[in-house]
Amino acid sequence: MTDFSRTRQLFDLPDGVIYLDGNSLGPLPKAAVAAVNRLMTEEWGKDLIRAWNTRGWIAKPRTVGDRIARLIGTPPNSVVVGDTLSIKVYQALASALALRPQRRVILSDSGNFPSDLYMAEGLIALLDRGYELRTPEPEDVEAAINEDVAVVMLTEVDYRTGRIHDMGGVTAKVHAAGAVTIWDLAHSAGAMPIDLVGARADFAVGCTYKYLNGGPGAPAFIYVAEQHIAGARPALSGWLGHGAPFDFDLHYRPAETVERLRIGTPPLLSFAALEAALEVWDEVDLHDLRARSIELSELFIAEVEARCPELALASPRDPNRRGSQVSFRFPDGYAAMQALIARGVIGDFRAPDIMRFGFTPLYIGREDILAAVDILEDVMTNRLWDNATYRRRAAVT
Ligand SMILES: *Cc1c(COP(=O)(O)O)cnc(C)c1O
Repeated sequence: MTDFSRTRQLFDLPDGVIYLDGNSLGPLPKAAVAAVNRLMTEEWGKDLIRAWNTRGWIAKPRTVGDRIARLIGTPPNSVVVGDTLSIKVYQALASALALRPQRRVILSDSGNFPSDLYMAEGLIALLDRGYELRTPEPEDVEAAINEDVAVVMLTEVDYRTGRIHDMGGVTAKVHAAGAVTIWDLAHSAGAMPIDLVGARADFAVGCTYKYLNGGPGAPAFIYVAEQHIAGARPALSGWLGHGAPFDFDLHYRPAETVERLRIGTPPLLSFAALEAALEVWDEVDLHDLRARSIELSELFIAEVEARCPELALASPRDPNRRGSQVSFRFPDGYAAMQALIARGVIGDFRAPDIMRFGFTPLYIGREDILAAVDILEDVMTNRLWDNATYRRRAAVT
C-alpha cells in the first residue's frame, strides 16, 4: 500500500493553504530544490560544457522519458521529453497524418483544450492540402469516426469537466476505421493508471507540470508506438532529432528511435526539477492513488452538494467516468473562486462558469477536503464572493 502520509512529506506546501489546483500546476517537491541547486553549483558550475557527457545531460530527454513511460504503461525507449505540450501535439499530428496520406479529416472534440485545436488549425493551414478539423461534442465523437478520418486526436480527461474518454474502446473503433489515434494525457498522467500499450494507442503526448509536479513550464513528453516510429516523419526536424547530430551533416536524417522527436537543446534546469519530481512516483502505486482520488472526490461532492446548494455539479457523477478533478458551475464562479483563494483554498476557474478543484492524494487528505468545504460553505452562504475586488479578472484565471 502506498503511504500517502509519507508522500505528503515530500512536498513543500505553504502553511494555511489547501491546494486543490495540482491538476493545473503541481506544488514544489522538496527534492526539486536540491536537484536544481546541485545542477547549478555542481554540474553547470564545475563541469561546465563537459557535463553534457559527464552528467548525462545529452541523454536526459530519453532517461527522464523512461521514468514517464512507467507511469503511462509503455516500454523503455518509447517516450522522449522536451519542448511544450503544444509543440508535442503538433509533432504527433504531423507524424500521424503522414501515416494516412489519402485521408483529410482530423477528428477531435469540442471539449479538447484549445491549444490542441489551435495547433491543428495552424498545421492544416501550413500543409494547405484540404485538411479539415472536426470538433463534435465529446459524446458524439465515437459516432463521427468513419473512413474519411485520418487521425482522432482527443484529450483523455476533459480539462473543464473531468469527463473521461474510454481510451481502449475509442482506439479500437478508430483502428477498425483504419485511422490513427493521438491521446493527450495532460490531465491523466499522474492522476490515474494509464495503459497505452494495452489500449493499443498510436501516439500520446502530455505535460509534466500538472499532476507530475515538474514545475512551471516543465518540458512535455511524447510517446510513439513502436510500429510507427520508423514512419513518424518529424515535422520539426531539429539537429538533436538527427540520427547523428555530431556528424553535422548538411542534410537531415531522423534518428531510428523515438528520439527523432527531439528538436533542440533541452532546458537542463527544468529537467533537473522534473527528474526529482518524478522520483516521488517510485513510492506510489497508481491503483492506490486512483482509489484514494475517488474517495476524496466523492467526499468533496457529497459535502458540497449537502452544504452549498447554489453550486451545480459539472463533472460526471460516476467516479469511473471522471478524472481526478471535480467541477461545479456557478454564474459568479470567478468571484467565488477568488474569495476562496483569499481564504487559503486554491482551485481555479474556467470560463464561462466553472469552478475547478483538483484531488491529488500525494499531498491532499480527507481533513483538507473537509476544511476546504467549511470555507466554501462560508463563502457561498454569506455571499462573501459578492465583492468588486473578487470580480476583477486577472490575466490567468
Ligand atoms: C495544459 C494543457 C495544454 C498546455 O499546453 P502547453 O504547451 O504546455 O502550454 C495543452 N493541452 C492540454 C490538453 C492541456 O491540458
